Amino acid sequence: MIYRKLKILMCCVLALSACSSERESPAEDPSGNTLLIKNAMIVDGSGAAGYPGDVRFDQDGIIAVGNLEVLETDEVILAKGMVIAPGFIDTHSHHDIGLDDSPQAVAAISQGITTIVVGNDGKSNFPIENFKQELKSNPPAINVASYTGHGSIRLEVMGADYKREASFEEIARMQALLAKELKSGSLGLATGLEYDPGIYSNTDEVITLAKTVAVEGGRYISHMRSEDRALHEAVEELILIGSEAGLPVQISHMKLAAVNIWGQADNVLRRLEAARAEGIDVTADVYPYTYWQSTLTVLLPDRDFEDLDAARFALESLAPADGLTLTVYAPDPDLVGLTVAEIAAARGKSNEETYLQLIRDAYEGFTIEEIATMEEPRESVIGVSMSEQDVAALVAWQHSNICSDGATEGHPRGHGAFPRAIRKYVREQGIVTLPDMIRKMTSLSAGHVGIKGRGLIMPGYAADLVLFDPDTVTDNATIEHHDRLSEGIASVWVNGERVWQNQQTTGARPGVFVVRAVRRE
Ligand SMILES: [Zn+2]
Repeated sequence: MIYRKLKILMCCVLALSACSSERESPAEDPSGNTLLIKNAMIVDGSGAAGYPGDVRFDQDGIIAVGNLEVLETDEVILAKGMVIAPGFIDTHSHHDIGLDDSPQAVAAISQGITTIVVGNDGKSNFPIENFKQELKSNPPAINVASYTGHGSIRLEVMGADYKREASFEEIARMQALLAKELKSGSLGLATGLEYDPGIYSNTDEVITLAKTVAVEGGRYISHMRSEDRALHEAVEELILIGSEAGLPVQISHMKLAAVNIWGQADNVLRRLEAARAEGIDVTADVYPYTYWQSTLTVLLPDRDFEDLDAARFALESLAPADGLTLTVYAPDPDLVGLTVAEIAAARGKSNEETYLQLIRDAYEGFTIEEIATMEEPRESVIGVSMSEQDVAALVAWQHSNICSDGATEGHPRGHGAFPRAIRKYVREQGIVTLPDMIRKMTSLSAGHVGIKGRGLIMPGYAADLVLFDPDTVTDNATIEHHDRLSEGIASVWVNGERVWQNQQTTGARPGVFVVRAVRRE
């Protein structure tokens, strides 16, 4: 099968017309209603150079690629030389939040994203079987795949008493839940080791769970234990998990988020390359911004909200108070849009006192279980804490794919990450070629999370497609205007149905739940 696909790919690249006539057959779609994108620049997701051609598809998938004659059944779409690429696969997305109320998924679709991978950072819709049913009864415009959150199964087993290491028996119960999730199509295990409740787990617990995933042919993905002061140790832990459990491991939204480690991206990448050379399949996803979005508490791994020294360290070395902007603040929504430094100045208090007070006010009166299982966050913050050079180096790494880590609300990455990556790193800085950037948004992403049959323009693949202008595609979302739509994405198809055109949704909701492709050794 792989050989056959390779052969088709070679054939399409080397001898377009011969290939298309071989593949072309109107009888393949007796019902008619095929779509033909004419005169496109095909960037197929493999990393190969773009070439002029046409793509025929229907709801069952891509039918033919090459120089194609118009058939009677074809509805023709003129691409006018624009790029047709596989729909983007976002390996770390939070766009599932609110998807039931807004199934059009405008924030994601408008960027050219056709599949979102959710359940990251240790938190998933659990159990996955219910989530699948919800998506089936209220289908979204976008495809959805999901990991199983370590934190979700940990809470399920340990309840409110999670601020400790799990017992052998508790880990065994987590393994049973995980195995069931994997049988329901989960991509694997996603940890959020910097967050509650994952932060209280030890490495052995994670390795034991990862072994269960390995048996089922799944994968491991992680918001690691630290992205700042203990980044290097966190990378070692991830590599150890990959080596001990024997499964592919992916670093979520890889970053160097502390001033004192800025400029060390090459060191981190060298360590990852060394692990790869030893046979550990370690990869990463990256979003193209120097600022993150998280909770105020994430900078305090000891979770001591009275510790002024820890707060001072966080604001001096990790994320300066004038770069920490509140995007959600339930106790006082008027503070949204202000930085911690601005609030401190207004209150006549120090930055660190203000920072701790904001945390205490946000969570006062809530039990730990309530905090850990909150649907709506009490607070959220954007923090500037990465260097542009590091982000560029991580984006350019051959084993990193692009993600948004975005949602409908909050950080501008939710509306702009993918167009931004093309604008900045292809067009403006020229450090990644367009075909390679598309590979980092499609086939590489599919491979990194274990999705099959999507991410390439090839007969037999799902007709998830994006038509865009590579010269103008641009993000417009900013911290002040997080939901401004990107430009230059002309049309988006999901499973052969157009979901985005002329800067608006078409109303179609063809998205499906995408299950894990089992790894073969
Ligand atoms: Zn994360």
